[in-house]
Amino acid sequence: MIYDEQNIFAKILRDEIPCEKILETNDAISFNDISPKAKVHVLVIPKGPYIDIYDFNKNASKEEVVGFWNGVNETIEKLQIEKKGFQLKAHKGEAGGQEVFHFHVHILSND
Ligand code: AMP
Repeated sequence: MIYDEQNIFAKILRDEIPCEKILETNDAISFNDISPKAKVHVLVIPKGPYIDIYDFNKNASKEEVVGFWNGVNETIEKLQIEKKGFQLKAHKGEAGGQEVFHFHVHILSND
């Protein structure tokens, strides 16, 4: 599979479609999931063109990996759920239930 530049998150990164942004760093952006499955449901994506978590872990530079995970933690702090807690999910491939083929993690939290 090759990375599809027309996937919905690539369009969000290019500002072609809007999102409810939580934060943006050099390496990552986070935004509310359009169809929330918990009180807090936020997606964090790297800016680079990685299809899924396996592709990202295998091919991203150390700087991109560190920058992405710093973006995850900064998002968690901005949402003020670092003490309360949260669930982190990544879907990979059709058998993993992935729908959008730009790597993302879901941050989910309920009171
Ligand atoms: P998955 O690929 O299975 O991890 O799921 C993709 C997620 O992206 C789903 O939870 C969708 O609700 C969410 N989603 C799809 N389109 C948008 C969008 N335009 N803005 C925000 N979230 C989206």
